[in-house]
Amino acid sequence: MTHPWDASYTADAPPPWDIGRPQPVFVKLAHDGLLSGRVLDAGCGTGEHALLAASRGADALGIDLSPTAIGRARAKAAERDLPARFEVADVLDLRPPGPGSFDVVIDSGLFHVFSDVERPRYVASLASVVRQRGTCYLMCFSDRQPGDWGPRRVRQEEIAEAFSDGWTVASITAATCEINPIEGVTQAQVWLAALNRS
Ligand code: SAH
Repeated sequence: MTHPWDASYTADAPPPWDIGRPQPVFVKLAHDGLLSGRVLDAGCGTGEHALLAASRGADALGIDLSPTAIGRARAKAAERDLPARFEVADVLDLRPPGPGSFDVVIDSGLFHVFSDVERPRYVASLASVVRQRGTCYLMCFSDRQPGDWGPRRVRQEEIAEAFSDGWTVASITAATCEINPIEGVTQAQVWLAALNRS
């Protein structure tokens, strides 16, 4: 059976988040040299953030449940001649060769898809593959975003709560993400969190 997430990528129009370029907040992190080393793009979609990191010299791996998204990401890597790797995998069930495999995790719009029950599983799964003092940069929909379209809104405290065990919250700041137009709206309010593995 096709996974429901795959349907997002097989429709006629791209999904709202799939804008064909990296999100500005991650471009800034890359510019600041923070997306380097062994980088995991969790829920990578069509791969823009893993490709961004690879373009800056990182050893980047993107994983996603959607085979269609992973196929597109691989095609982009080939077209752009970038060494990023992409695999179909479930971030809730990472099976690393050993803990400490990644220096950096990119979460662009993944955390906010999880239910309350899945959140601790996600954070524990990430913790098992991020080295000590490695960092997860997480961008999720914010409770500052009005309306009820799109993903669930997340409060800063919920991020801090989810990452309270085995992580230190370095920062959580208000920012915006870009989306393909929904009812004329092309930006949404997000939180950008930097979470350090302790
Ligand atoms: N990071 C991408 C996509 C964000 S949308 C971007 O910024 O464009 C969320 C993505 O997470 C979707 O591509 C979806 O297929 C993927 N996803 C959802 N649950 C997942 C899981 N358990 N494991 C891996 N990927 C998942």
